[in-house]
Amino acid sequence: MKIDRRSFLSLVAGGAAGTALSPLPWKLTDDISIWSQNWSWTPVPEDGEAEYVSSVCTLCPGGCGITARRIKDRVVKIEGLKGCPVNDGGICILGLSGTQLLYGPTRIPSPMKRTGNRGDGQWEKISWDEAVSTVVEKLASLRSGGQPQKAGCILGSEQGTLPSLFDRFMTAYGSPNVMSPASSRTSYEMAMQLMQGGKPTAGYDFEHSDFILSFGSGIIDGWGSPVRMFQSNSDWKTRKVKVVQIEPRLSNTAAKSDKWIPVNPGTECVLALGMAYVIIKEGIYNQKFIDNFAYGFFDWTDEKGENHHKGFKELVLGNYSPDQVSKITGVSQSTIAHLARSFAFASKPVAICGRGQGHTPVSLHEAMAVHALNALVGNINQKGGIWAVPAPDYIRWPEVKLDEAARKGLTASRIDGAGSDKYPLVKSLLNRLPGAIASGSQSLELLFVSGVNPLYEMRDTHAVKSAFEKIPFVVSFSSYMDETAANADLILPSHVYLERYEDVPSPVGFNRPFIGLTKPVIEPLYDTRHVGDVILLMAKALGGSVAEAFPWDSYEVCLRETLGDKWDALVENGFWIDEGYVPESLDKAFETKSTKFEFFVSRLSETLRKDEQALPHYMAIESEGDVESYPLVLIPYDTTRLSNGYIGNPPFMTKTLDDTILKGNDGFIEINPKTAKTLGWVEGAFATVTTPKGEARVKVHLFEGLMPGIIAMPTGLGHTAYDSYLAGKGFNVNELIGPVEDPASGLDAAWGIRAKLAKA
Ligand code: SF4
Repeated sequence: MKIDRRSFLSLVAGGAAGTALSPLPWKLTDDISIWSQNWSWTPVPEDGEAEYVSSVCTLCPGGCGITARRIKDRVVKIEGLKGCPVNDGGICILGLSGTQLLYGPTRIPSPMKRTGNRGDGQWEKISWDEAVSTVVEKLASLRSGGQPQKAGCILGSEQGTLPSLFDRFMTAYGSPNVMSPASSRTSYEMAMQLMQGGKPTAGYDFEHSDFILSFGSGIIDGWGSPVRMFQSNSDWKTRKVKVVQIEPRLSNTAAKSDKWIPVNPGTECVLALGMAYVIIKEGIYNQKFIDNFAYGFFDWTDEKGENHHKGFKELVLGNYSPDQVSKITGVSQSTIAHLARSFAFASKPVAICGRGQGHTPVSLHEAMAVHALNALVGNINQKGGIWAVPAPDYIRWPEVKLDEAARKGLTASRIDGAGSDKYPLVKSLLNRLPGAIASGSQSLELLFVSGVNPLYEMRDTHAVKSAFEKIPFVVSFSSYMDETAANADLILPSHVYLERYEDVPSPVGFNRPFIGLTKPVIEPLYDTRHVGDVILLMAKALGGSVAEAFPWDSYEVCLRETLGDKWDALVENGFWIDEGYVPESLDKAFETKSTKFEFFVSRLSETLRKDEQALPHYMAIESEGDVESYPLVLIPYDTTRLSNGYIGNPPFMTKTLDDTILKGNDGFIEINPKTAKTLGWVEGAFATVTTPKGEARVKVHLFEGLMPGIIAMPTGLGHTAYDSYLAGKGFNVNELIGPVEDPASGLDAAWGIRAKLAKA
């Protein structure tokens, strides 16, 4: 049987979905481990008995359980962990490729100090003692100079013990500047917390839904917990669940859904409100939910009888008729009406939102509009709907005792403005950091970067690099020579996920309280350290109240103590789950001021003047650039075959790319054939794509699954660092797109950017 690349991939996806009806997917995963051994840098394992270690994959926020097969001291294969509630034996192509990230040539083998200019690639290996004392000296000097707030850190995640430990270190030291990238999860959970109160995570009971309405989420393109989504998608096919995908491009998700609805990028919010119009106008909303558990749906007059307030119903009926919405979204009136009715009449519908894999936020009001749809059908905390899931509450350390230096440093305003009067809703606004540094209004003297690659991942990478150049001392904790590490002053390399402990709570979209535990499968291959241990070393070296905040001898001791009685189960099974969890009944579910689900958000009304601002409404997030100079709109797209975050694509994954994504070192830009014809473009031509942020040489691919006037580029290409398997292949689309601030939250909510194509 001849297997071409496409059939090969769908079989791997079948494996990921856990549909092991044929032995072939598993044969192919074996092939992967055999194939992996053919890379020159991969050591061939000795013969011996295989052992199996259960752990958790941290290559994306999916939180899948894995089983690593080990022969002596070598990991030879990674499989999905059977029985793990997140992925039940399934694994994705990135998870399968984990051994390449363990043994690949891009690992940093020991602490390194820059010797040439930044980014020149000239490094000197140094000892851990020298590395830690270099950092501590700089930290101590900033602190004694009364400027601890000039130290900052960027962390890949806010969840779990390690980010909390870093946050604790910065607090005890005296800096408020702890930042991390936001995602569509950030926006949706912010909307949920505003409308429902408390601090729940968003859990989707997909296993029982009968209608999935996706506003751009790449359900099988890596959104949420990717393997769980593959498995859900297979289950939906069996149960004949209806899936509707709304987005400007025919993604893999759109192609596999029951209906694809192309929509002008960035207008998803107004489409949700147009659907709400039909549902309200026709009275097909969930009357019981609205009458008993909702606040701010109908107009009302306050207790004193003085002020009349506009409710969601009046706002929607006055502003979002299908006629008005159709003009903005490009979706026909009849489609809006049909979609609204289908959603309302389904018995367990659920609406989700997020761009592709969800690495960038959506606007707060888009998330609120989509959440309002879930409320209109009353499918909150119900079977098949969206659940407010409490995050596992296990990090309960004593409060940090601050000394005078820390107290003073913590009174300084944050460099990114998060939590200020202008941006009260967010904890972190990493997207604002480059602008704050460029404006000269604030500065950092020292920056830690851990678990994230801002010089590749952040929008407008040139501006990010310029901002980093103004920070005198950048310390990277990366395991890999990524773009940020390559431009740092000092690298303190961490163990990779197969060499360390790490707790992984609340996978994206999972519907029960869950913690996974990553475990060391083998001893560290190189002279690396756990970031947690380096934090403890730095704290102890700084002494005083900073050292006192860290009573643990090692990170492992801290983690064991923090996880308490869950530790044994985590070590044995690889995960802990609250099996008996059921969501709160609606009479107890809402921790808002009104104790109800708030269409009219009390917390927003306290700070904003107009009623409309406290209700879900459309605020256009315009793409940057003027229409005359830039007649097209460039959007990024995600695929599961390209890792686009902190983890760079392993060689195996790059091998599987279609030659309409990458051919040789040339990356492609997609364009609708009609638009291409009008502009004189043919398949395979070289073009220069230019946006207000930069330009790139690309090859043209005509793709009918793209709305006219839109061009699209994949995320995950165009690395300048890592290794020869990845660097110099294609172009990093983040260099071409700049952030556009959501006025309601301050988060970057840009869908794309205006662009033009010219002959290369
Ligand atoms: S989906 Fe994410 S967590 Fe799961 S195996 Fe793939 S990379 Fe790992």
